[in-house]
Amino acid sequence: MKVHEFQAKMLFRDHGIPCPDGAVVEGEADLEGLAARLSGDVFVVKAQIHAGGRGKGKACRDGVEVGRGVHVVRSPEEAVRIARTLLGATLVTIQTGSRGRLVRKVLVENGVDIDKEFYLAAILDRETATVALMASAEGGTEIEEVARRTPERIHTVRVNPLLGYREFQGRVLALKLGLSGEAVGQFVRLAGNLVKLFMAKDCSLAEVNPLVLTRQGNLVAIDGKLNFDDNALFRQAAVAGLQDVGEEEPSEVEADRAKLTYIKLDGNIGCLVNGAGLAMATMDIIKECGGEPANFLDVGGTATAENVAKSFEIMLRDKVQGIFVNVFGGIVRCDVVAQGLVDALSKVKLDVPLVVRLEGNRKAEALAILAGSGLPLIAAADMKDGATKIVAACRRG
Ligand code: GDP
Ligand code: MN
Repeated sequence: MKVHEFQAKMLFRDHGIPCPDGAVVEGEADLEGLAARLSGDVFVVKAQIHAGGRGKGKACRDGVEVGRGVHVVRSPEEAVRIARTLLGATLVTIQTGSRGRLVRKVLVENGVDIDKEFYLAAILDRETATVALMASAEGGTEIEEVARRTPERIHTVRVNPLLGYREFQGRVLALKLGLSGEAVGQFVRLAGNLVKLFMAKDCSLAEVNPLVLTRQGNLVAIDGKLNFDDNALFRQAAVAGLQDVGEEEPSEVEADRAKLTYIKLDGNIGCLVNGAGLAMATMDIIKECGGEPANFLDVGGTATAENVAKSFEIMLRDKVQGIFVNVFGGIVRCDVVAQGLVDALSKVKLDVPLVVRLEGNRKAEALAILAGSGLPLIAAADMKDGATKIVAACRRG
């Protein structure tokens, strides 16, 4: 799960990581009187979307470009004007894809006087089962380039979760960043706090880019990104409460409520499968046959007629050009899946080719249900046969 920058900063502040003061605006009502409440000489106005690269992104309204996703301005009136322009704009960044994201929230903050920009992040390192704490003196909007071209400029220490963060690890990084004097101690505390936040909230990523050294000599997080482990949300009620459903793919949210795993992809063939491994194999085989999967829909190990029906509804709404049902009945019963399929298609009209391959537990009963339904489906003998048939059917269609 992802959260907005302003929410990440709330958690940063709770964990002793300094951030600029700011306010979030969502609409005209929030903009009223905002200028009067702002004080200072420099303000930063930032579109809040679940994607990075906003500083270099393009915001558009009605097809007209209205500036970038992050603006540094010199007066409260200008801050309000920019915030109004960004609200309701579509922001396209390297991370959003060409369709971009609708800006529903804008953060207006006090600007800081930047001396240097650093990169700091805590990330789960599966290979060593540690929290990798990474830092670079080349922070800011070019960090992806740095990672690609000069990865040696990103320094890493690994925090063993059983031992926890030790201050010398922070000092190692601080010296590599070229920090000196009071900034070293500040960095050591800040990095430790970031690791504590990462562990306490079950993050999979906690990133500060940039972490800046101000001309006054203080370290401040002026951007923040937190990703959380979805499988830990059951014990992170406060974090789960931060979810902004408006930022999620609507069909993925609906699927999640029905306990389905649904990931929308770019192709045209819907894949209804059970189990993540079979989902991967199904996508691979579709690609091998020259097709492109439109999604990854896993009904899981407890497929019921209802969630199979729901899966069909979601897929058809997402405008797939064909559906491949590939189910291996182990715990899942093929007849339950077949019944769900028949139920779904009695409610929603199927106007695309449907290839079905059912194997395993109660296959014979399943085939009888399908045969008795009179549905115009194409039966497949095995996975390869199914993939070949759906790719061919979509080509014709
Ligand atoms: P991102 O592009 O989505 O990662 O957005 P950031 O929050 O990282 O902002 C992008 C860039 O805007 C930063 O790297 C800074 O160079 C600049 N910026 C952001 N906040 C401030 C600020 O308070 N003062 C100044 N001078 N620049 C800022
Ligand atoms: Mn950033």
